[in-house]
Amino acid sequence: MHSRYEVVIGLEVHVQLTTKTKIFCGCSKDFGQEPNSQTCPVCLGLPGALPVLNKQVVEYAIKTGLATNHQIAPRSIFARKNYFYPDLPKGYQISQFELPICEHGWLNIETEDNGPKKIGITRIHMEEDAGKLIHSGTNSSSVDLNRACTPLLEVVSEPDMRSADEAIAYLKKLHQIVMYLGVCDGNLEEGSFRCDANVSIRPKGQQELGTRAELKNLNSFRFIKQAIEYEVERQADIIDDGGEIVQETRLFDADSGLTRSMRGKEEAHDYRYFPDPDLVPLVVSDDWVERVRSELPELPEAKLQRYQDEMGLPPYDAGVLSAEREVAEYFDALVALHANAKVCSNWVMGEVLRAVKEKEILIRDCPVTPELLAGVLERIADNTISGKIAKTVFEEIWQTGKTADQVIEEKGLKQVTDTGAIEAILDEIIAANMGQFEELKGGKDKLTGFFVGQVMKASKGKANPGMVNQLIQKKIKG
Ligand SMILES: [Zn+2]
Repeated sequence: MHSRYEVVIGLEVHVQLTTKTKIFCGCSKDFGQEPNSQTCPVCLGLPGALPVLNKQVVEYAIKTGLATNHQIAPRSIFARKNYFYPDLPKGYQISQFELPICEHGWLNIETEDNGPKKIGITRIHMEEDAGKLIHSGTNSSSVDLNRACTPLLEVVSEPDMRSADEAIAYLKKLHQIVMYLGVCDGNLEEGSFRCDANVSIRPKGQQELGTRAELKNLNSFRFIKQAIEYEVERQADIIDDGGEIVQETRLFDADSGLTRSMRGKEEAHDYRYFPDPDLVPLVVSDDWVERVRSELPELPEAKLQRYQDEMGLPPYDAGVLSAEREVAEYFDALVALHANAKVCSNWVMGEVLRAVKEKEILIRDCPVTPELLAGVLERIADNTISGKIAKTVFEEIWQTGKTADQVIEEKGLKQVTDTGAIEAILDEIIAANMGQFEELKGGKDKLTGFFVGQVMKASKGKANPGMVNQLIQKKIKG
């Protein structure tokens, strides 16, 4: 990179909400339905149709605002953002402009070199989405208005990020929070979580911001990083050559990895915002805010801290377990039933996550519930089965839905802790492998593993490995 320049990035994220219905009418907002099948006079923009605000949208906005440290406005206003486009039948989009519902928020991100960093969030406002144009063939386009009036939150950050990596860290954090809150399904490809990036550069040490380009069409974290990195190089090359950056909107093309100009600069005044006369000011009481606050789930950052401070888990474990809400909830349910947090962590990160990934199911659909898994862990703890046999039990529970005790009983998997029985097996194995046993006695300690392995094999995994070890030591001294 051109080390003479400092990169300045601000992000605008559109979060599509998981409400059942649209923001100003009762139409369903299911993705992938027959074009124009989910429309009514309101979202078709027919004259005289009046919008009615969906209360759930406000609730989700407050939730998201609180989870990202915003102040919730007691009174906010819906405004018309005027522009013409064929997918916008009303000729304006209902959004919020001067008085948005949330202001002055922030998030912490982890940076690679400098530890935690606070990223300011200017505002979050509610708005409706537009429809979608479908271009078919060379001279025909159709419009699908199923998406028109779909509720969005627009989350506008301060220009606080200084690299593509910081931008990605911020986006992933925000993505994780809206997923935890359940207000968004988080699907980048389907456009449920969309990001526009404002990117500019300035000579190091300069206070004044450089001219920015706005990057659109960024539908994966990887593309966002690529697009920002390409854009920084492009701007630096222009300035190096004595040129000037033009304020414009640029589209990222994932195939070429380049950004290209889409349209020239636009400013807020181009949209002739004014308060929507069809919607009264939105008043949010303190009681409402406090009720929503009291219902917020424990957020990923708090979980990460608790897993380390209260349970003594290593940072790696805490990170994996808190990354997704459903994984964390599975783990929390398991720990509530089985006190050894590290053992629980090992099983969730190991068998459980491996199996759900392999079977391509969600952890909430895991047939080995926290209750069933706790049953397995109890039997390891009381030495009924070894850790190795426990994996067989886990598989069997997965297939049959039976409890650990049922599986252990039916399959005869109970660990052999009868010293005499184990010793008898060991004696046979020593007799069959006298050569190795003499070497072991002679000091070749590595061979202990061989004998333990043979006994485990002969006992079909049921011998208690600790006991086998002790008996071998006894025989060596013999
Ligand atoms: Zn509708």
